[in-house]
Amino acid sequence: MRALGIEGTAHTVGVGIVDEECRVLANVYDMVKPEKGGIHPREAANHHAEMVVPLIRNAADVAGIDLRDLDLIAFSQGPGLGPCLRTVATAARALALSLDIPILGVNHCVAHLEIGRGVTDAKDPVLLYVSGGNTQVIAFARGRYRVFGETLDIGIGNMLDKFARECGLAFPGGPILEKLAQDGKTLLSLPYSVKGMDVAFSGMLTAALALRKQGAAIEDLAFSIQEVAFAMLTEVTERAMAHLDNDEVLLGGGVARNRRLQEMVARMASDRGARMFVPPGDLCIDNGAMIAWTGLLMHRGGVRMSLRETVVDQRYRTDEVAATWRA
Ligand code: AMP
Ligand code: MG
Repeated sequence: MRALGIEGTAHTVGVGIVDEECRVLANVYDMVKPEKGGIHPREAANHHAEMVVPLIRNAADVAGIDLRDLDLIAFSQGPGLGPCLRTVATAARALALSLDIPILGVNHCVAHLEIGRGVTDAKDPVLLYVSGGNTQVIAFARGRYRVFGETLDIGIGNMLDKFARECGLAFPGGPILEKLAQDGKTLLSLPYSVKGMDVAFSGMLTAALALRKQGAAIEDLAFSIQEVAFAMLTEVTERAMAHLDNDEVLLGGGVARNRRLQEMVARMASDRGARMFVPPGDLCIDNGAMIAWTGLLMHRGGVRMSLRETVVDQRYRTDEVAATWRA
């Protein structure tokens, strides 16, 4: 069985093709890069509408298959930006109808976790999902993926990108700040906001921008933001692992590419006799392969959807998904 997955919750539109053993046959994508300012949902949706058909063709070429060899179409049903979600859902419906094969809407956050289980040795990990719009600690418990902690305001990636943008750096800011942080020398004081199992980043953003105005070096700020924000994330992840008595931690989302975050979580894991898993970078960011793979798992678990049920859900919660395939 082969599935094609279309991702399009935010800035990235991606198409992936995977087989039943989670071999990634193709995983191509294109990201909106606004010249200035943040992402405008309508503009991103227009970008996705332009790119999705060429990407589908390209994915089939890379996989070396004909679209008629596909058995399932999956797409990102939510959470995400409404116009973007509707655009890829429309593309997925058209493709499934024309090929006369089943279609499944996939929860984006669950897909980040499943692709990690698919391509690493992680069996039942706690996922630290750190991306642009989302920041969650997720694990499987009693039939569902449950959120053990999350951001109370903005996603960690948004915080990094916004800070970078205000400092005149390009988008996405996360990787640029990671480089700058290597030359940071002084740990500046920034708010450490852990509230129970949750985290918050907007106070840190405000404080860092204020320090920048007062003349703090960008390298020191990048370094300090990483140290404080990643320590917060590591703390809540460790608490979830302790609570669940779980000895596997999986990283997902674009910020999971950050070496310093990987280092801190790996250190925490080894201190408690646990293991950390990080999927390859192209499977950490938003991508079609993770949607295709989760669609395959759902199909295997008996999930079927009528066209009517493929309506998108901007606020699709991780714990709304009945993870039948894990039963
Ligand atoms: P996603 O939303 O999962 O596609 O991930 C995109 C986010 O990941 C953006 O906010 C990027 O700034 C961030 N990102 C990508 N690479 C890195 C990195 N090396 N360090 C920190 N953040 C990163
Ligand atoms: Mg994501």
